[in-house]
Amino acid sequence: MNTPYLWHNGRIKPWAEATVHVSTHALHYGSSVFEGERVYATPRGPAYFRLADHTRRLFESARVYEIEVGYSEEDINAACLELIRANRMSSAYVRPVVFRGAGGLGVLPKPGAPVEVAIMAMNWGAYLGEAAERGADVCVSSWHRPAPNTFPSWAKAGGNYLSSQLIALEARRNGYDEGIALGYNGLLSEGAGENLFLVRKGRLYTPPVSAGLLAGITRDSVITLAAELGIAVEERDLPREALYSADEAFLTGTAAEITPIRSVDRKPVGNGEVGPVTRALREAFFGLFSGQTVDRWGWLTVVTEA
Ligand code: PMP
Repeated sequence: MNTPYLWHNGRIKPWAEATVHVSTHALHYGSSVFEGERVYATPRGPAYFRLADHTRRLFESARVYEIEVGYSEEDINAACLELIRANRMSSAYVRPVVFRGAGGLGVLPKPGAPVEVAIMAMNWGAYLGEAAERGADVCVSSWHRPAPNTFPSWAKAGGNYLSSQLIALEARRNGYDEGIALGYNGLLSEGAGENLFLVRKGRLYTPPVSAGLLAGITRDSVITLAAELGIAVEERDLPREALYSADEAFLTGTAAEITPIRSVDRKPVGNGEVGPVTRALREAFFGLFSGQTVDRWGWLTVVTEA
């Protein structure tokens, strides 16, 4: 996974040189915010997908936790581009992280305590492995998502991923590719690291962000592409049983892209095959990177013109 270089506190440096002290605040208290982004090989050269939107969300997450990033959004966008050039990559998974550093222990950050910023670019294929093509076998997790007045789900913070780890670990232990959690209200929320969509009678449904989930950028892209394709989309409360009676279901995320779900709790979704709506949306989504789908939204930022 490692690449020769990463970006750390303002400069490109060798991967192995970016180390932190064991007293790092984030290590003890989960005080980090991060992003997951992808660079795709396109006919115009390597290109970030929705870079500015990811950077915006990173800053919004930092704001929730009163973490001073110390760089502008433009600085971070430029650093992301520079890193791909430095590593001479044609595609990548990119992980910017902003965290409270080594400034003394104590939950309440000390005034003037350091904040560190790092950006890593890695070679990372399909997040859920071969499930991306054949369809994932998922379960409904026994772990629920935290209520909105416990951990803010809009902020993509390190600490939130303890919930995701419990969901994912339980799913893997029981032989599933991924787990889907119910929200605080007992209704469907999202996967451990993905948003959830269902298809019923040709219409697309997804739980609302008020269900305590991350407002995914891939989720937003799918909603936009569905409108393009003339597929009706509804963001609404969905009970667990909606999963069992769906014609199709899929997960979305930067890492997972659009991963079809072929079974839930060992019950096949539809006929257990990738359905036509999922197929059409995958085609439109991946078409953005092959050039088949016109990028009318300015979602791609070319790193270096081919
Ligand atoms: N929900 C959770 C909990 C996630 O970790 C992710 C991945 N960032 C998503 C949803 C999907 O978000 P995005 O499409 O912005 O990657």
